[in-house]
Amino acid sequence: MPGFSREDLLSHARAKRPEFEAILKKIVEIPSVSVEPNRKGEVHRAAEYAVSLLQSFGAKATLYETKGHPIVYGRFDRGPDYPTVTVYNHLDVQPAEGPDWNTEPFSFIREGDVYRGRGTTDDKGPAMTALFGARYAFEQKIPLNIHFLWELEEEIGSPSFETTIRANAKEFATDSVVVSDTVWVSRARPACPAGLRGLQGFRFELQTGETDQHSGTAGGAARNPVTELCQLIADCVDGKTGRVRIPGFYKDVAPPTKKELEDLKRCGFTVKDFKKDHLFRSLRVDDAMEVMKRIWMMPTFEVHGIAGGYQGPGVKTIIPPKATAIVSCRLVPKMSAAKVVKLVKAFVKDKNPDVKVSAEHELPPYEGKTTGPYADAIRGAMKFAFGKEPVFVREGGSIGAVLSMEKVLKTPVFFLGLSLPEHGYHAPNENYDWPQAEGGIAAFADYFRRLAEM
Ligand SMILES: [Zn+2]
Repeated sequence: MPGFSREDLLSHARAKRPEFEAILKKIVEIPSVSVEPNRKGEVHRAAEYAVSLLQSFGAKATLYETKGHPIVYGRFDRGPDYPTVTVYNHLDVQPAEGPDWNTEPFSFIREGDVYRGRGTTDDKGPAMTALFGARYAFEQKIPLNIHFLWELEEEIGSPSFETTIRANAKEFATDSVVVSDTVWVSRARPACPAGLRGLQGFRFELQTGETDQHSGTAGGAARNPVTELCQLIADCVDGKTGRVRIPGFYKDVAPPTKKELEDLKRCGFTVKDFKKDHLFRSLRVDDAMEVMKRIWMMPTFEVHGIAGGYQGPGVKTIIPPKATAIVSCRLVPKMSAAKVVKLVKAFVKDKNPDVKVSAEHELPPYEGKTTGPYADAIRGAMKFAFGKEPVFVREGGSIGAVLSMEKVLKTPVFFLGLSLPEHGYHAPNENYDWPQAEGGIAAFADYFRRLAEM
């Protein structure tokens, strides 16, 4: 087994820093916003660039067209007798506009060690970091095939991902997957998710008339769909505490284990930083443990928007004919999305039978492994690169592709995330930084070596 020390790797990373920055600049400046139809060409251009990049690194690379945006598959092949690891990242990004951006979102800006621009941390920076680590490990001739699965529809819920990997399951066959698309709890200590919350979206619609009516002539007798939806939502969830009032909603929620609680205690989470990173003025609770349990281990019922009625200046005294609410539930391991749909539909029917409920986007929750040789390799690689073992925590968000890969490729999925809370996932002024990239290159190279040794 080829040996490389932490110092070898870090000096290699430092030598490659200008190349890393040039490549990150190039890919960040392609505005691959998957949700915006007028950016379809740009998303495709990002995929084409990714193929040429992989090829320039000496990997084989293929662009797979799908019904939506393409998927890029790359491979550093050592040979069929060696194990294979597949690195998953996504190269599409969230929309970015608005007055809160201090710099042009699709201009790559370097300020010392900080790299600014949409996609720098979610997920182009970590993708490039993994690629640099893989190239080093491959050049050191470690006996391992390293493949890349780069998606361009992650931010829209991966609608084409599962069908594409299913259609190419033979080509994409692998012994394990490592995902780099998650956030540490704080810079002080690496963190790996051991579970992801799932999601079940809903649309509530209520129509009680045909056109706006005068609240003076009809008000009092006319039904008001906005008011009724507000009442329905208040029946579903306590707005102040967040407690979901739908009977049976919490039935399958498993309480955290002792080990999980221990990891939470030493993960470096503080309420102060959480508030600062997310620009919150206040929270529902102020106890750190309680906040962590709520964002990682408990399901939620959230209203994303209510539409209906007059929104302009002044007061226009109408009674609107219809109203819509977009809501969703975050789900935790052991909860079933189908069961939640049933519960919500039955509850709404009971409270207000005129409200039409449609179940929208669904992602099951994911429960990861924290023991065994792969989890130990993650622990070892993080310690090698960053000097500290990671804590295994949960992630509040959902990554649909994770479940698809586990199911279709029949392979375990692990996480080696590099983003930090202050990097601003999905937020204005998104950024990534060189210390995470440099450590990340070392962590990936070392992880690949550990897999080859397994
Ligand atoms: Zn992401």
